[in-house]
Amino acid sequence: MVLKQEQGGDFFFDYEVDAEMLSISCDKCGKQFKRKSAKSEHMKACGEEPRFSCPYCPHRTARRRNMRTHVAIKHRCRYP
Ligand SMILES: [Zn+2]
Ligand SMILES: [Zn+2]
Repeated sequence: MVLKQEQGGDFFFDYEVDAEMLSISCDKCGKQFKRKSAKSEHMKACGEEPRFSCPYCPHRTARRRNMRTHVAIKHRCRYP
């Protein structure tokens, strides 16, 4: 991000530099992501009711596949 000064005197941020990063946010809820793949994965489930709840913690998700990944990574177990 680059701080520029307009002729009027007010400072403004030049978002051009961060355009790539700023574009990685959910169109529906505005959640931001560091990776494009994380956004597209989130977009599939965004707005859906979280029907799957983790047996090991309060985490909930709308997608069974997401829950399997969560359980595998966070708890090192297999989701049934
Ligand atoms: Zn979203
Ligand atoms: Zn969990």
